[in-house]
Amino acid sequence: MSLELDRRLAEVGTRFRIFPQPRFLQKADGSGPLFAEPEQVTVSVEPEAMRPGPGDDRMFVIDAIGKLPYNNFFRPPFRGNRRPAVQPGPDGHFDHLDPASREFSAATMYATVRRVLDIWEDYFGRTIQWHFESDFARLELIPLIEWNNAQSGYGFLEFGYGSKPNGTIDHERPFCENFDVLAHELGHSIIFAEVGVPANPRDEAIDYGGMHESAGDLVAIVASLHFHSVVDLLLDSTKGNLLTINGLDRVGELSDSREIRVAFNSRRMSDVGEEPHDRSLPLTGAIFDTMVEVFQQDLVAKKLISEDLRNRSTNLPGTSQDLVEIQAEFTAAYTGNEAAFKDSLLRARDYLGRLLAVTWGTIKPDFLTYHGILRALLAADREITGGENVQLIRACFAWREIAPVPTSLMLRQHTITNCGFSVGRGPTVAGDTAAFDPQIPAPRADGVTSALPRL
Ligand SMILES: [Zn+2]
Repeated sequence: MSLELDRRLAEVGTRFRIFPQPRFLQKADGSGPLFAEPEQVTVSVEPEAMRPGPGDDRMFVIDAIGKLPYNNFFRPPFRGNRRPAVQPGPDGHFDHLDPASREFSAATMYATVRRVLDIWEDYFGRTIQWHFESDFARLELIPLIEWNNAQSGYGFLEFGYGSKPNGTIDHERPFCENFDVLAHELGHSIIFAEVGVPANPRDEAIDYGGMHESAGDLVAIVASLHFHSVVDLLLDSTKGNLLTINGLDRVGELSDSREIRVAFNSRRMSDVGEEPHDRSLPLTGAIFDTMVEVFQQDLVAKKLISEDLRNRSTNLPGTSQDLVEIQAEFTAAYTGNEAAFKDSLLRARDYLGRLLAVTWGTIKPDFLTYHGILRALLAADREITGGENVQLIRACFAWREIAPVPTSLMLRQHTITNCGFSVGRGPTVAGDTAAFDPQIPAPRADGVTSALPRL
């Protein structure tokens, strides 16, 4: 969501408070929780348009009583007993709720999903229609069921709790308060809605599966970069050195967050298999790297770091001495310029959000490949910036070994003979089109006309 729009929403929307990261994440020095206080967020729905739950015209919370998890035979809508709907304060807002209360957890689930949807609808520039719209108008949100698990399904998100080491339910860790988990699950819904699902039974959907998990993570990462506290902590602990390769140690206390760990991964295609979460890592890494490169490009343009530092931090010579030096230079550059660094990062975030929205709006689900996604990203960049970042995107994907599949027809070489042009009748080099006669297929040695498809 653009900074400008966020400012406008703050005046007209409804206020909630949510924790940017789970409350159980502790500071590295053990002095307390990493995010001790919830941060205020404003959703796009005006107080007058809020409905009981909380809810609105797109989603609503039901705090069900004694509910078992949905399964293949038990599906929404939920018609059983429920606790009373959470009420707003006298001013119509929900930022009055006590973080220790059950109502706070229920309201958090709504506010998180609504906020993430607001952010992504802004990047798409339109309403994202639910993939289950043929059956339901609104997404059902069920917080706090007695279950040490959580699930998303057709028309619902249903969340329980984490587990204690002995396997029992840990009531201190409600999943509905975990921003990353909710945002990731909503990410799957956005992909179902905008990309769709493969229809061809012969399609093994291996890259499609990896793309789905990657998209869930990217939806969560971009959304969490809308919390000032998260952005500040990320920049303060790295001093703006966000290079992802071997970068997990630099993100400090945030490295306990799953989405941060996923973003700062160094996997290439040759490191991963076909399991969707594993396979998602090089794609997520390539796309997150793209954001980091755009961020650094902006820092260079503002003369906050040198082109030389940027190049060295991107093309690692691989010695720890260099890494220490690079970090020291970033620290020097960042100190005193914190606000300018933050501004550059938020601009890079918004570029990435828009880039992904345009990409997801264009790719087709059948026989989807990572190479196809790369080409869609390049096309999206041409649409958004006129192609300013295409070389940078190419480099990020090349490092991750994302390329056409080896059997791709794109990689087959075509001699002009294959293409049906005759040879031996004067000059046949490219540029001298007079020698080409597309009407006459070239005979092969066996006398059969070339069978290669004309691409
Ligand atoms: Zn997932």
